[in-house]
Amino acid sequence: VERTLSIIKPDATERNLTGKIVAKFEDAGLRVVASKRIHLTPAQAGQFYAVHAERPFYGELCEFMASAPVVVQVLEGEGAISKNREVMGATNPADAAEGTIRAEFAKSVGENSVHGSDAPETAKEEIAFFFSGLELV
Ligand code: ATP
Ligand code: MG
Repeated sequence: VERTLSIIKPDATERNLTGKIVAKFEDAGLRVVASKRIHLTPAQAGQFYAVHAERPFYGELCEFMASAPVVVQVLEGEGAISKNREVMGATNPADAAEGTIRAEFAKSVGENSVHGSDAPETAKEEIAFFFSGLELV
């Protein structure tokens, strides 16, 4: 079965939305197989989002991701990567389908409540960024 990396972002943890967001993952058939709450430094956020380093919103994104704790999780299930992105909804909440996490909870295109890996290769890298082998069963 497939695994993907999910992050419940600062705007969501701040508003106590972690449980409601996890319920949406579980209702979609995704299983939480690893989970922890961490507070990233701006440098760690920058390393995680290095692929976006040239984008105009990079500085803002790194600052936001380090502004409060996040909950990082590994989700497992059939087609977990695409299923998770479906449940998340479009990056911009204005474009997100009804019932998706971003439609219901996101504040803006930047403060959009969740992150999810976008492909098998990035999922593997992102899981290894946050979790050691010992933490993954
Ligand atoms: P994520 O990678 O977080 O799952 P995504 O794949 O839907 O989201 P990306 O294009 O990879 O979106 O952008 C990464 C993140 O950068 C977005 O989730 C959002 O927080 C932020 N971001 C993207 N576009 C903008 C923008 N125009 N202005 C501000 N922040 C943005
Ligand atoms: Mg992305």
